[in-house]
Amino acid sequence: MTDNNLKAGDTENTNWRPATKMIHSGISRSQFGETCEAMYLTQGFVYDSAEAAEARFKGEDDGFIYSRYANPTVEMFEKRMCALEGAEDARAMASGMAAVSAALLSQVSAGDHVVAARALFGSCRWVVETLMPQYGIETTLIDGTKLENWHNAVRPNTKVFFLESPTNPTLEVIDIAGVAALADSIGGNLVVDNVFATPLFQRPLELGAHVVVYSATKHIDGQGRCLGGIVLSSKDWIDENLHDYFRHTGPSLSPFNAWTLMKGLETLPVRVRQQTHSAARIADLLAEHNAINQVIYPGRADHPQADIVKKQMHGGSTLVAFEIAGGKQAAFAFENRLNIIRISNNLGDAKSLITHPATTTHKNLSEEARSELGISDAAVRLSVGLEDEDDLMEDILQALDTV
Ligand SMILES: *Cc1c(COP(=O)(O)O)cnc(C)c1O
Repeated sequence: MTDNNLKAGDTENTNWRPATKMIHSGISRSQFGETCEAMYLTQGFVYDSAEAAEARFKGEDDGFIYSRYANPTVEMFEKRMCALEGAEDARAMASGMAAVSAALLSQVSAGDHVVAARALFGSCRWVVETLMPQYGIETTLIDGTKLENWHNAVRPNTKVFFLESPTNPTLEVIDIAGVAALADSIGGNLVVDNVFATPLFQRPLELGAHVVVYSATKHIDGQGRCLGGIVLSSKDWIDENLHDYFRHTGPSLSPFNAWTLMKGLETLPVRVRQQTHSAARIADLLAEHNAINQVIYPGRADHPQADIVKKQMHGGSTLVAFEIAGGKQAAFAFENRLNIIRISNNLGDAKSLITHPATTTHKNLSEEARSELGISDAAVRLSVGLEDEDDLMEDILQALDTV
């Protein structure tokens, strides 16, 4: 990011609360004074003289060079996210997976060791379990809910810890501050995938994490339109690790998608609060229903890590995980009977979406790995949307009636 183009009047107040930052932070207006963030659909930039080009390449002025490196619209999104997370710097990327793989791969070399919680989004798990070992990076997957497992996995060459919390799809919660303290004690870094909690409900950097990553595809867009991702950290970490990796491997976010994601951020608090409110009501409804074996919802007192939820999250979740009595057949019958809630592996959308992880998002795991994670054939994951909550509950009840 560059800092040269904040105009007078755009100074920011770091005491703004998140909802205000999501609307105003990072904006950089052109000479026309547009209300809405401008979309700079350009690959490159021109220079007034050969000397000016030379100066820019030398880093003597920090204007833009090429949109693979930085772009004014993308930079506004990065600055807005930095203000929200309390991060010094960020790089926005074309997808959540571009962000996760860049955050991990840019800071390790052959011979380093990475410890990750085994409950990971499927592609994240592939990067850790399959891709990193191809380059000579040792990796260990553990049950991340127990802090002693992190301690026991440490080796002399351990450099990075990686987790998501709440996890996909079983909504386990991991003690971020505890793992961050362990990382500090061995001079390592903790990377947190904060997708499920959203920037509203959990701030990993404040809990001691060193790097936070998002798939902006989820709640940040929130309306099913485009892919995006972002990596946020200290300026030192980005300069030392991500800066060159990002420039030369090219996972850059398109300015159009950055603009869409900024529009998404503007409404994120309103959407996520309503979705969470509906999800909490649905979780309670399901917990009472005799066709449901188990409900996992961060925010309910019976969540397995309810104490950690209280300690590190400011809200529940827009997702509910539950098991339907009767196994796969019953889970499929239930999904097929839903009228409003649509079958889709995505999440965080305005539309309520349901998925059967064992046969979709987590089908590539062995049966043993699935059962370690608690993903049974009866389990479904519901991403609660913005429809009227009573309509959603009626839809669920009518579908359960038939299974
Ligand atoms: C979706 C998701 C990703 C990957 O993001 P894409 O934008 O689909 O590449 C990574 N981590 C988590 C937790 C996710 O939900």
